[in-house]
Formats: sequence, C-alpha cells, structure tokens
Amino acid sequence: EEANNEKESPYISSILPGWFSEISPLWPGEAHSLKVEKILFQGKSDYQNVMVFQSSTYGKVLILDGVIQLTERDECAYQEMITHLPLCSIPNPRKVLVIGGGDGGVLREVSRHSSVEQIDICEIDKMVIDVSKQFFPNVAIGYEDPRVKLHVGDGVAFLKNVPEGTYDAVIVDSSDPIGPAQELFEKPFFESVARALRPGGVVCTQAESIWLHMHIIEDIVANCRQIFKGSVNYAWTTVPTYPSGVIGFMACSTEGPAVDFKNPINPIDADDSHTKTRGPLKFYNSEIHSASFCLPSFAKRVIESK
Ligand code: SAM
Repeated sequence: EEANNEKESPYISSILPGWFSEISPLWPGEAHSLKVEKILFQGKSDYQNVMVFQSSTYGKVLILDGVIQLTERDECAYQEMITHLPLCSIPNPRKVLVIGGGDGGVLREVSRHSSVEQIDICEIDKMVIDVSKQFFPNVAIGYEDPRVKLHVGDGVAFLKNVPEGTYDAVIVDSSDPIGPAQELFEKPFFESVARALRPGGVVCTQAESIWLHMHIIEDIVANCRQIFKGSVNYAWTTVPTYPSGVIGFMACSTEGPAVDFKNPINPIDADDSHTKTRGPLKFYNSEIHSASFCLPSFAKRVIESK
C-alpha cells in the first residue's frame, strides 16, 4: 500500500515550472496557480514587492508581495462590485474617497456616476500607480477623470486629517491584512472612516473570503456593529483568481437617512453615457447587487450573531 502511495503520479509535480503559485499563511494548504507566459515587471517599492506578468488565460496579472491583486480578465467583478454596491445605494453621491486602489480600477467605476463631483484617492505605494499606468491602461484609465485628486500616502494618516462629515461614500480597496494594509482592518481605522462620513453616508471595504477568513470577518463585523449605527451588511461575489474564488465586502452606513443596501435606489444601468470611454459594465447589475447580500447558512449564522 505504502509503496503505491509513493509512486509518482502524473498529476502531482514537485513544483510547476513556469507557473506562478500563490502561497500565503492566509490560505494554508492551498495555492492557486496561473501559467506564466512572460514576466513583464519586477520591482521592490518602500512597501512591497511588485510584479506584473502575462498569463496564458487571464491576461496581465498584478502581484503584490506574492498575492494576486488583479487580472485583466476578472478585475471587473471586484472593481464594479466594491464601487457600485455603496454608490448605487444612496441618492446622488457627490464626494467619494478611495483608500488603496492604486491600480485605478475603482476610480474608473466611481467616475461612471455623473452625480459625483469630487473623487479623492489615498494610495500608499506610488509604484503600484506607475506600474498600473504602464501595464494596465484599461484599469488606470480611472486616473484620467478630472474629478480625481491623488494623494500618495498612508490611508490611516490621511483619514485622521479629514474634516468630520466630508464624504458621502468611502471605498476601502485594500490588500490583505499582512503588510501595509494591516491597520485598514482594525477598529481605529473604521472609527475614522465613520467620522469622515456625513450622516447616512456609506462605506464599502474589501472583507476577505467566507471560505477562508470567517475569523477575520467576525472581528470586522463585530467592530462595524459598534461603529456604524445606520446599518452593517456583508456581501460577496465571485472573483476566480482570488483565493477560494470569492471575495466579500462590508457595506455599512452611519446614523442618519436610512440606507437599504439590499435594494439599490440609484441604478447605474439606467443611463449608458458612462460607457463611452470606459466600456460597458461587465459584471454589476441591480439584480446581482441585491443577490450579493444573500449568504450561505454557515456564514449567515456567524455574521448575524455578531
Ligand atoms: N483593486 C484591486 C483589484 O482589482 O482587486 C486590488 C487591490 S489594490 C491593488 C490594494 C492597494 O492598497 C495596493 O495598491 C496597496 O498598496 C494599497 N494599500 C495597502 N495599504 C495601504 C494603506 N495603509 N494606505 C493606502 N493604501 C494602501
């Protein structure tokens, strides 16, 4: 028997030569792999290792510290959902802040909303911005909108200096809580987000995977329930190149005019002038917006108990 187990199987290779494998303590015992056609960029910024490669089936891929941030093929699912979940849930968003999101994809999505007058972004790592402009023009196109104002710096420090009640919406497009984004998952950060929002303002943050990170999600939900007195909701969507193939979002509102995230009142699909330079929405629609708040029973139990 034992001898049999030791036989070489054609399906098990010690290392996949020419493939990128995403290995991290955040998803022990598994590693998603993509076949690499060509490495296009490798650099080390003050904050992280940055890499871009051409994959065989997902287009170009952006990696930070060994973790996939986006691929050309499926970035639409993440960028459209994290943006339109909050912005389609309130009437006439005018001032929007993006924390992280250096690739520019969330900016591209925010700028589809004609009511928006001001889009501030605070990204810590200039190398991510430059690399995105060089290799991901259809994502970095977000920077071309004249309403965008870029601040290069730490989102935690930036928020501390924002006057109370400034924004209608804050979108936290962060990397995982190991490295520069760690504080973006902690209670003091959520408190400063709440302070920066007007009454009835909304926040949407990257909130990891229900398959891998229920312990992290539990903490985030518990913190948010203490801080956001309007509503606290968890939504999720599919992104094939994220660990476990899904990613979640915390969608919360501050005390004030009520926000019902599950029933979007500001549909973006109504008017298509935003598609001219940016192309059509590929993923988001009003039905998927409402559906994204339906949770599998195991996750519902935990999230509702917090
Ligand atoms: N938008 C992407 C997508 O389509 O999936 C993924 C994530 S985006 C590249 C995450 C960004 O958050 C990174 O560029 C990272 O540098 C930035 N970031 C991490 N910590 C930060 C902090 N403390 N303040 C501001 N930005 C931060």
